[in-house]
Amino acid sequence: MNSNQVALVTGANKGIGLEIARQLGKQGITVVLGSRDAAKGQAAADILKNEGIDAHTVKLEVTNADDVAALPAFFTDTFGRLDILVNNAGVLPEAHGPVTLETFREGLEANVVAPYFLTESLLPLLLAAPAGRIVNQSSILGSLATVTSGQFSPGYLLPIYSSSKAALNMVTVVHAENHKDTALKINAAHPGSVKTDMNPSGDLTVEQGALTAVRLATLPPDGPTGSFFHMDDTLPW
Ligand code: NAP
Repeated sequence: MNSNQVALVTGANKGIGLEIARQLGKQGITVVLGSRDAAKGQAAADILKNEGIDAHTVKLEVTNADDVAALPAFFTDTFGRLDILVNNAGVLPEAHGPVTLETFREGLEANVVAPYFLTESLLPLLLAAPAGRIVNQSSILGSLATVTSGQFSPGYLLPIYSSSKAALNMVTVVHAENHKDTALKINAAHPGSVKTDMNPSGDLTVEQGALTAVRLATLPPDGPTGSFFHMDDTLPW
């Protein structure tokens, strides 16, 4: 068995996911970068290896059932364990065109259906870990309380993105409630408005944007479960 903790970060070939992997790796955690493009994943893992991090990669299109089904055997055979899952991969369909039946379905598939089944597939390993942690990378735009607070201009809100992140928040709560009597902690993160390919006008760096997920991925045994955070602050669902 791998002597260090092992973490899987999805969508880790770039953006906030790559930085989450870097920050976990710098804490001595073995990191596995999920990437739907194997070459991009390998290139990102090589960058982290050059920084002294124990970085690996796995080809992972999160909506591909075969990729997801292969994960438990990959972690068992390669490391003998999985301690941390960060469901970070996500899409913002409204940035690429109009809301259609197809784009709505694709957005929900990537942002909520995939993290649910990925988590289900890896739950046995995470429950077997001494301090299993799951972080779902959500958004404040998925908070019903926030989007109904009157702070957004008419037309600003995004139906696919907000619906998918609200549903991801519910998936977080369902998994957390179902496992609240175990050592596993399952929380949702809002990274802030982070400058990435998804959000070119973000005002935070990826270093800042990764902090919430990294904190939730490394919570102590008395830390929270079933909550929604930005940094140390609890957010309303
Ligand atoms: P990003 O730079 O666009 O990175 C998104 C990552 O997800 C990429 O690695 C992308 O892979 C991957 N991905 C997308 N769909 C995938 C799929 N079906 N299978 C596997 N990988 C997939 O975006 P980001 O800003 O870092 O966002 C990361 C997460 O933070 C997302 O869940 C996003 O909703 C959330 N978030 C971001 C912000 C922000 O301000 N940036 C705010 C709130 C929440 P490819 O490179 O192959 O496309």
